[in-house]
Amino acid sequence: MIYGDGMALTCSARGCQAEAAWALRWNNPKLHTPDRRKTWLACEQHRESLGDFLGARGFLREVEPADSADRRE
Ligand SMILES: [Zn+2]
Repeated sequence: MIYGDGMALTCSARGCQAEAAWALRWNNPKLHTPDRRKTWLACEQHRESLGDFLGARGFLREVEPADSADRRE
């Protein structure tokens, strides 16, 4: 996914350089106010593992296509 500024969105998984297809929105209630959203970007391969990691901790809020992701963190 390429933005107008030429920055590619790459997967947030460690060591992965793949293009991100998904934006995982998450919130850690111990650190963040309820309306705060952190974003991890995930390729098709890592969407499930990153989502499971966040889901197991109760952090995952929404999963959106990466092309709808804005620049909030
Ligand atoms: Zn990946």
